[in-house]
Amino acid sequence: MEKVTIIGAGLAGCEAAWQIAKRNIMVDLYEMKSIKRNDIQHLDTFAELVCSNSLRSNVLTNAVGLLKQELRSIGSLIMESADANALPAGSALAVDRTNFSQYITDKIRNHPLIHVIDQEVETIPEGIVVIACGPLVEGKLAHQLQQLCGNDAFHFYDAVAPIVSYDSINMDVAYRKSRYDKGDGDYINCPFDKDQFDAFYQALMEAPKVEGHESIDQMIFFDGCMPFEEMARRGVKTLLFGPMKPVGLIDPRTGKRPYAVVQLRQDDAAGSLYNIVGFQTRLTWSAQKQIVHMIPGLENAQIVRYGVMHRNTYINSAVLLDATYALKSHPHWFVAGQISGVEGYVESCASGALAGINAALIARNMEPVVLPSSTMMGAMAHYITHANPHYFQPMNANFGLLEMDLTIPKNKRKEAAVAQALAQITVLNSL
Ligand SMILES: Cc1cc2nc3c(=O)[nH]c(=O)nc-3n(C[C@H](O)[C@H](O)[C@H](O)COP(=O)(O)OP(=O)(O)OC[C@H]3O[C@@H](n4cnc5c(N)ncnc54)[C@H](O)[C@@H]3O)c2cc1C
Repeated sequence: MEKVTIIGAGLAGCEAAWQIAKRNIMVDLYEMKSIKRNDIQHLDTFAELVCSNSLRSNVLTNAVGLLKQELRSIGSLIMESADANALPAGSALAVDRTNFSQYITDKIRNHPLIHVIDQEVETIPEGIVVIACGPLVEGKLAHQLQQLCGNDAFHFYDAVAPIVSYDSINMDVAYRKSRYDKGDGDYINCPFDKDQFDAFYQALMEAPKVEGHESIDQMIFFDGCMPFEEMARRGVKTLLFGPMKPVGLIDPRTGKRPYAVVQLRQDDAAGSLYNIVGFQTRLTWSAQKQIVHMIPGLENAQIVRYGVMHRNTYINSAVLLDATYALKSHPHWFVAGQISGVEGYVESCASGALAGINAALIARNMEPVVLPSSTMMGAMAHYITHANPHYFQPMNANFGLLEMDLTIPKNKRKEAAVAQALAQITVLNSL
């Protein structure tokens, strides 16, 4: 039986490798990190979460919550690791990023059917291939992809948020609380009064940014990843109704709602690191230090990882892929992960799962599967391959994509759709 080659041991590549090996097919998994890392990567281990440590909502009636549950039902390695390395984060699933990545690396490296090759792939090989090189792809592979996709290769910009050490947070000012007390005080909140906020806003507007090849007005940002200072540039309210929203966060010391709040979320199992929620930035490092130190409670915060911004590449799947994640021009080459135009950690993993299963089916001389759009995994694959190609942008899981039974009353429709999706997804376990 033919083996499958995978390029990239990220979220998509690891999940693809796992699903293929589960189906008794041999995998060659190429990963270049131990030889060459990019400026966003900090670990040598696989499936690195490059920015937030949150895999977002864990609630079933939330679209990404449903996607996670679908992945759990098909024995996803990424979800197994996320659940094993979960941290307190209210209704979200946040993980210790180092342990999460190490767990996956150990499982992959120790799997008898997965052969890891620590090498950079410069040319897509012949045979059955899952291209899961991620949105930060560079060098000769990026060049080949560009040639393969022509004018249908795009990019946008994505930024990561700084992380601070817990023991440098002033807990005489900051306080623990989950919004509306949903959760056990999983977040640390830094409260601003109006004067503090105005001074912070002013400094933020004046702070120097790292300039790239494109000016800020030429750059395309994805809404959920927009740099904090760019949100600020759109007006004070963008912050006060966005990442600095104070509602549901009454300060227990004053009994009052602060004017604005910056939230911090636990980043490691030991609770020694916290990331600043929604504070993804491209400010220069010295400016980040100045701005972070203006946050009440973070006056002396030690920044252990600074925010950076990166070009994020994706292809126009609406033109190039079919709903099995195969390239129409090369039906044995699958494209999975963020580069396929799905957006987010869980979505990348889900596309890797489906691309991997289909690669395994081809290796067995069987027909690849198209999932129904009444499953979230199927709905994502359907969306990216049937969207309007002229306006194609990466897409998060959401209920707008899911096919639902419109005859069911509105107040019961979502729950029925979730039940149906979870029943249907198990078909993958028989393949
Ligand atoms: C700056 C930034 C911040 C982001 N923040 C978030 C966030 O907070 N939350 C969220 O849900 N999503 C975020 N995303 C989006 C997305 O979820 C992540 O990019 C995610 O890691 C995508 O998974 P992936 O498997 O497609 O790619 P990756 O996880 O990037 O994995 C690709 C792997 O392929 C390897 N590789 C690349 N080229 C080669 C080659 N030629 N040969 C061998 N190996 C190669 C890389 O080293 C890497 O390990 C962010 C993206 C970027 C760029």
